[in-house]
Amino acid sequence: MAQNFDVVVVGAGPGGYVAAIRSAQLGKKTAIIEREFMGGVCLNIGCIPSKALISAGHFLHRLQTQSSEMGITAKNVSVDMAQTQKWKQSVCDRMSGGVDQLLKGNGVTIFKGEANFKTTTELTVKMSDGKTESITAKNFVIATGSRPIEIPGFKFDENLVCSSTGALAQSAVPKSLVVIGGGYIGLEIGGMYANFGTKVTVVERTRRSFKVSLIQSAFASLNAVSRRTVLSS
Ligand SMILES: Cc1cc2nc3c(=O)[nH]c(=O)nc-3n(C[C@H](O)[C@H](O)[C@H](O)COP(=O)(O)OP(=O)(O)OC[C@H]3O[C@@H](n4cnc5c(N)ncnc54)[C@H](O)[C@@H]3O)c2cc1C
Repeated sequence: MAQNFDVVVVGAGPGGYVAAIRSAQLGKKTAIIEREFMGGVCLNIGCIPSKALISAGHFLHRLQTQSSEMGITAKNVSVDMAQTQKWKQSVCDRMSGGVDQLLKGNGVTIFKGEANFKTTTELTVKMSDGKTESITAKNFVIATGSRPIEIPGFKFDENLVCSSTGALAQSAVPKSLVVIGGGYIGLEIGGMYANFGTKVTVVERTRRSFKVSLIQSAFASLNAVSRRTVLSS
């Protein structure tokens, strides 16, 4: 028999989990369905892991370039990227676990699995344990987010050709890297690897995105650390 809720949210990213918590706080019987990770892209493969790695890259770069000026001796400083990845993952896991706790603490029922709509008032959840649950609701919030797009000729293998997800999960620092797309995600990832010592080339179709002030400052700081940053159209 189907379980019934006032509000069902599909997707536990920043859009979904906040909506679910607020709905429960307003007294609605609320459920959330998530197929992969609590906290969505942001907490697991986006904002948080990128900022963790960026801060590690900054730390390394400052030690290598500014420590002696500050009177700090830092000899033979190097990076063990596999360990850096473990640390990054622990940051993400802690935050993702926090979302789980927040949802439970606010009385939201959590379904870990993939939602598929059957009708406009009913969906099924293929649970991660293999079972299937039927859920009906008066209201649904679809907060399923976005995913990286592949461009023809560059199929992701997350090793040689990476989406942002693969780029944030490398266990070794690449010697060189071409970033296709000079938006904020590309420049952040490029800047992060430049701080780790990678030779970075950014390929951007239009000059326009480089004129946006935030992007301009990211581009300037990338240029400052990378031995090579190329703008191409
Ligand atoms: C590298 C990177 C860095 C970023 N940095 C920043 C930043 O610094 N600041 C910022 O504001 N934004 C940043 N973003 C963007 C940010 O991550 C997104 O804007 C945000 O995650 C969108 O939230 P959302 O809830 O809409 O979707 P998502 O976070 O994508 O969550 C959607 C969730 O829905 C789930 N889902 C999808 N389909 C189903 C289904 N059928 N059943 C069950 N679950 C499903 C997915 O598993 C996912 O967990 C960054 C993104 C990337 C990739």
